[in-house]
Amino acid sequence: MPVLVMKFGGTSVANLDRIRRAAKRVGVEVAKGYDVIVIVSAMSGKTNELVGWVDETSPLYDAREYDAVVSSGENVTAGLMALTLQEMDVPARSWQGWQVPLKTNSAHSQARIEEIPPENIRAKFAEGMKVAVVAGFQGISPEGRITTLGRGGSDTTAVAFAAAFEAERCDIYTDVDGVYTTDPRICDKARKLDKIAFEEMLELASLGAKVLQTRSVELAMRYKVKLRVLSSFEEQSDEAGTLVCDEEEIMESNVVAGVAYSRDEAKLTVQSVADRPGIAATIFTTLSDAGVNVDMIVQDISEEGRTDMTFSCPTDQVARAEQALLAIKEKGELNYAELLADRNVAKVSVVGIGMRSQSGVAAKMFKVLSDEGINIKVITTSEIKISVLIDRKYMELAVQALHDAFELQKAG
Ligand code: ADP
Ligand code: ASP
Ligand code: MG
Repeated sequence: MPVLVMKFGGTSVANLDRIRRAAKRVGVEVAKGYDVIVIVSAMSGKTNELVGWVDETSPLYDAREYDAVVSSGENVTAGLMALTLQEMDVPARSWQGWQVPLKTNSAHSQARIEEIPPENIRAKFAEGMKVAVVAGFQGISPEGRITTLGRGGSDTTAVAFAAAFEAERCDIYTDVDGVYTTDPRICDKARKLDKIAFEEMLELASLGAKVLQTRSVELAMRYKVKLRVLSSFEEQSDEAGTLVCDEEEIMESNVVAGVAYSRDEAKLTVQSVADRPGIAATIFTTLSDAGVNVDMIVQDISEEGRTDMTFSCPTDQVARAEQALLAIKEKGELNYAELLADRNVAKVSVVGIGMRSQSGVAAKMFKVLSDEGINIKVITTSEIKISVLIDRKYMELAVQALHDAFELQKAG
C-alpha cells in the first residue's frame, strides 16, 4: 500500500471536535487506499503551559526532565486521535516516540533525529492496521531518555517519517491554508503561494516564519519529500495549499519571494574590547559554550586600539550571555568597559533566489525603511536574503512596507 503522512498542528487538534474533524480527513485518505501515518502536536497552548511549569519549578532546569515534561502533550493527542479513529471503525493505534522507536542524539530540548526503523509500524500495517498515530516532537536518546526536537518539532517528525517510509506525500495541516508571502496575521495583503522553492522556504523558516520548522525543510530537501502545507479547517482538493518543491518546478517568481520576521531578538554590545586577534574568538567561544545562539555580529571601527563588538541573540538567552561574559571578565580573560543589552529589537528579512541575479534589492530595502523613519541597527546578507535588526515597535510596519514596495501581493 502507498503510505501518506499527515501532520496536524496544535490548533488542528485543539479540542475533541477538531480531533474528530482531523480524523475524518484521515478517514478520507484511508478510503482512497493509503496506509496513513498521522503525526500529532499537543493541543494548542499545551506545550507553552508545560514549558511554563518547568521554568517556574527550576529556572536552570535539567534538560532531560524538561523533555520528560514538555513531550507529554503529544501523548494525549496521539491517544485521543487513535481512539477517535477507532470510533469511526478505522483500525488505528497510537505510538509514542520511544515505541517506534524514533532515535535521536542526546541534545535534549534540541535533539536531532538519527534513525526511524520502519519495521514495527510496517508489521502492524501488514496485520491490517490502517493508521499509525505518532506523537510528534519526541524521540529517544541512546541513553534511553525521552528527547524533544525543539519548538515546532512535529513538522520535522512528519518529514522524517515521510522519508523513512518513502511516503507518497507529507501533508502539513495547520491553521493557515498554505505558505504566504509573509505572515498573513500581520499583513493583510499577504498572498498565498502555490509553490515555493526549498531554499526559499528554508531561509524563511530559519528567519522566523514558523509555519514550518527549519529542520523539517532541510530534511525534505535532502530526502526529496513531497511536502505540502494546507489548512485543516477547509475542504481540500489534491492541489490545495502550498507545495514546497525544487526551484526548477517553479516557472515564474518574484525577485523577493517573501518577508520574514523574528520578534524576540536582543542586541548586545560589548563595549571597548582590545582590537587584536583572539578577542572575537574568546567572546564567541564563551557564548557558544554557554548555549547562546548568536545570530548577527558587527565589529565597529577601532579607536586607539579599542573597539565595540555587537551581536544579536534570542531575548530569553540574554541573561545567560550576560552571566557568561561577566564570568570571563572577572577571571581576567576579557577586558571590556560595559555590556549593553537592548531587548526591544526585532529582525526583519527579505528572501528570494532571484537576488542571486538581480542587484539593488538591499538598496531598495534600506530606502523603504528610511522612508518610514525606521533606523537600521544591524544588517546581514547572504546570497538570497537580507536581514536587518530594528526597534521592535516598527516590526509590523517594516514588514508591511517591504511587502508593498516589493509588490508581493502580485504574482511574479
Ligand atoms: P501549527 O500549530 O499547525 O504547527 P504554527 O503556529 O506553528 O502552526 O504555524 C502556523 C503559523 O505560522 C500561522 O498561523 C502564521 O501566523 C505563521 N506564519 C508565519 N509566517 C508565515 C508565512 N509566510 N506563511 C504562512 N504562515 C506563516
Ligand atoms: N508541541 C510542540 C510545540 O509547540 C511541537 C509542535 O507542535 O510542533 O513546539
Ligand atoms: Mg508549528
